[in-house]
Amino acid sequence: MSEISTQRRFWSCFPRVACLALLAALGFSLPVGAATIVLDPGHGGHDPGGIPGQRVSEKQAALDVALRVRARLQAAGQKVVMTRSSDVFVELSQRVAASKRAPAKALFVSIHFNSAPNRQAHGIETYHFDARSRRLAEAIHRRVVAATGEEDRGVRRARFYVLRTNRRTAVLAELGFLTNPQEGGRVARSSAYRQKLANAVASGVLSMVH
Ligand SMILES: [Zn+2]
Repeated sequence: MSEISTQRRFWSCFPRVACLALLAALGFSLPVGAATIVLDPGHGGHDPGGIPGQRVSEKQAALDVALRVRARLQAAGQKVVMTRSSDVFVELSQRVAASKRAPAKALFVSIHFNSAPNRQAHGIETYHFDARSRRLAEAIHRRVVAATGEEDRGVRRARFYVLRTNRRTAVLAELGFLTNPQEGGRVARSSAYRQKLANAVASGVLSMVH
């Protein structure tokens, strides 16, 4: 039997379920209906975010990662709305208004980075306000912690404006401390690390869409 026909035989008997599981394990998304995701890079314009002493400004890092998340989600067939896609200031109320204009099942994901006067602080935190948003927060959080190997600072509930006034499933990801020399340094210097963060966020979002 030639090698090609052996391969064909293998694929023809390969159970469909196993095939789908393999694709899912490899991180491929299945084209089962598109959702709308509102991506909200924190800060912008005259608001750099965080505190002085960051390795890179929060507004810059948040936008960079959000644009990478957008590319991943669009490649997976999802519709993406950005609250900002350049270095401009956007009021919190306008960010929530973008979410309100999106379909009822849209997911709102705010991208931020952390800062602390204590330079040793590092790790990942993911926030939600209402109970229904907790699953999305957990899905994103788990993947970001696993992808980075960073400290798991937990999924937390908070009354952030963009979460508590939001009518959509809404989460806010704090993707690391820009004031920490190691973690902040990686975010500032390594586009591969920022891509890793973006892939993990997108994967968490897609796990809730499919
Ligand atoms: Zn922020």
